Amino acid sequence: MLRGERGLAVALDLAFWRGVRSAATPVEWERIARSSYSVLVYHRLAGQGKRGQERIDLAPERFRQQLDVLRRFGFRTLASPDVIRFHSEAQMSMPRRSVALTVDDGAADCLVPLRRHAGADVQLFVPTREVGGAAHWLSGEPLLTWAELRLLADEGITIGSHARHHRRLTEWRADALAAELTGARADLRERLETSSELLAYPYGDHDLAVRGAARAAGYLGAYTTRTGRNGAGTDSFCIRRVSVHADDGRLAVLWKCLTGEQLPVGWLRLRAMSRRVRDARGRL
Ligand SMILES: [Zn+2]
Repeated sequence: MLRGERGLAVALDLAFWRGVRSAATPVEWERIARSSYSVLVYHRLAGQGKRGQERIDLAPERFRQQLDVLRRFGFRTLASPDVIRFHSEAQMSMPRRSVALTVDDGAADCLVPLRRHAGADVQLFVPTREVGGAAHWLSGEPLLTWAELRLLADEGITIGSHARHHRRLTEWRADALAAELTGARADLRERLETSSELLAYPYGDHDLAVRGAARAAGYLGAYTTRTGRNGAGTDSFCIRRVSVHADDGRLAVLWKCLTGEQLPVGWLRLRAMSRRVRDARGRL
């Protein structure tokens, strides 16, 4: 590693720990860590870096490294029932370093990586009427079929509802909204004999009417795309998640687990700078 690069690597580490320290006092941090959890959200696991999907498409090897670092740092992954119980039972506290891993959409490329890490309590959310088709919201990427979803469910992956169609729920009329939400649960029950109690709002889009309709459809909670940690006071229909990006390394994923937030701007700037130095070196 060149001197300039080494300096940048040290600066990146410092930025991380400064950020962690400034997020809370030690006492606050202890309380936060014991009574709350973060949720990571992934989308594609192919690492193709297609235009427009560079951030949300992780290489399977990077996904493996991230799960590995969480394991090494003692994070416990939460299954759907853990999340539901935390929000419904006042006395329940989370073990320290709890994190839920979610994957939205059901892109076909997730099949192999998710099967490989079937023990990681991943929660996969699919739009049930798009299953086996092409993702119109993701440049037509192929989606998992029901047979593949069955395979994943049999291996321990929880398959949940991402509504029926991948459309913004706030844009449906009331009767269609109810059909989207109730229907997706019915589809999952019929095709996989599974009861989906958590919903992931497509595009994270929701409002009072959507949350009410979700409750009425029998869901017990729902994931948004708003960032932050989730505590006992978090509305279970407004569970926060933070998106993991293709270039998130070891520290970045730890940061997201600890804070539930995107990386600080200063850190992103340093990372971009570090990448430019590396690319320039590669061209020499
Ligand atoms: Zn989605």
